[in-house]
Amino acid sequence: MDLKFDLVIIGGGIVGLATALEAMRTLRGRRVAVLEKESTIACHQTGHNSGVIHSGIYYKPGSMKAKNCVAGAAAMVEFCREHGIPFDICGKVVVATGQSELPGLQELMRRGTANGVPGLAMISVERLRELEPHCAGIAALHVPGTGVTDYAAVARKYAEIIETAGGQILTGCEVHGINRASQQIVIETARGSIESDFAINCAGLHSDRIMRLAGDTQGLKIVPFRGEYYGIVPGRRKIVRNLIYPVADPRFPFLGVHFTRRISGGIEAGPNAVLALKREGYRKTDFNLKDALETAAFPGFWRMAARYWWNGAGEYYRSLNKGAFTRALQKLVPEIQVSDLHPAGSGVRAQALDARGKLLDDFCIVPSRRMIHVCNVPSPAATASLIIGKQIIEHCRGVL
Ligand SMILES: Cc1cc2nc3c(=O)[nH]c(=O)nc-3n(C[C@H](O)[C@H](O)[C@H](O)COP(=O)(O)OP(=O)(O)OC[C@H]3O[C@@H](n4cnc5c(N)ncnc54)[C@H](O)[C@@H]3O)c2cc1C
Repeated sequence: MDLKFDLVIIGGGIVGLATALEAMRTLRGRRVAVLEKESTIACHQTGHNSGVIHSGIYYKPGSMKAKNCVAGAAAMVEFCREHGIPFDICGKVVVATGQSELPGLQELMRRGTANGVPGLAMISVERLRELEPHCAGIAALHVPGTGVTDYAAVARKYAEIIETAGGQILTGCEVHGINRASQQIVIETARGSIESDFAINCAGLHSDRIMRLAGDTQGLKIVPFRGEYYGIVPGRRKIVRNLIYPVADPRFPFLGVHFTRRISGGIEAGPNAVLALKREGYRKTDFNLKDALETAAFPGFWRMAARYWWNGAGEYYRSLNKGAFTRALQKLVPEIQVSDLHPAGSGVRAQALDARGKLLDDFCIVPSRRMIHVCNVPSPAATASLIIGKQIIEHCRGVL
């Protein structure tokens, strides 16, 4: 297969597809292709997440996450409504279970207000009990605009619209070489060479490798963090109505184990955040020598490990010990028991780490010659995907 395009997007997850969707809408007449290494789209982060339409309370005011999440949530709801994708704006509560968590709760209220999240309210314990009768807590923040959907279904709809408009989605098309020596980019793939005027790297867990293939480095490494879920057995689901979150530790880009109602029915608890020894390793035993050595060879990894080894050890302990995982959940819902929980799969987050050992807090999109690298788009990037796609296409408007 030898093909020529004006724009090639590497990665058929929700961010790559949202970018292609925006290109089809605004760069009319251009030949656009999405290259996906798997046999179907949306089978990594996009198909393994909590399905929450985040509202934007966590992110530093002014950050890309803050701006994109608030606008992205509104755009996502509109998209789901327009295309008949199931969603439910069920609201969530963030719950402080001790005095030491009250400043963190106030900070979320402050950030959410600054970010323009509608309807936020600090609520009394009585109101918390009305919303979530089985939830313990001394104070709570109610976020009525948070919702749930199915991001794999959203991504499939993006793909359908792209193909109807004439874009191509090439699956089984792993990128293993990029040559930018000539006027065109030549992309070597499992299905042959592909030429393009411009390329966008949306390869998620492999985005740092695609950057390296293109000859660009940013001193970033993708570190995979597995998030494991438990489901609540049917007879006990009534102890959680909607979404119940703890006050997250602001030093980490993860939200702490919480309860989520799935749009397909059922309640899940999790995800935790365990360092994975394989980038697409969904089981505890998954190991890939290349992935593990690459992580270990990156100086930033050891700086991060030195700083957070205690938290990391705690995550491993709760991952291997269901009783410890349950105790973390009991802080929010004391009635939950070990026997109420059954394993319910996992997802692996692509989290960028810099050479100083800092987990990148914000989204990171890096323009380069004839390319754009999407280097860090963890949660809430599914929520914000339509707005992220718009921003990426804005970057290449001048050159395409
Ligand atoms: C456990 C978990 C819970 C989450 N919960 C939420 C949530 O509730 N709400 C929310 O908004 N966000 C959530 N997120 C984040 C969200 O899922 C991600 O931010 C989003 O899916 C990222 O999309 P993506 O397209 O960048 O990555 P991906 O979906 O991982 O897509 C990248 C694609 O690139 C392909 N690829 C990689 N290398 C190559 C190559 N060499 N050649 C060709 N193709 C390649 C991969 O196969 C993959 O399909 C969660 C994530 C996880 C893991």
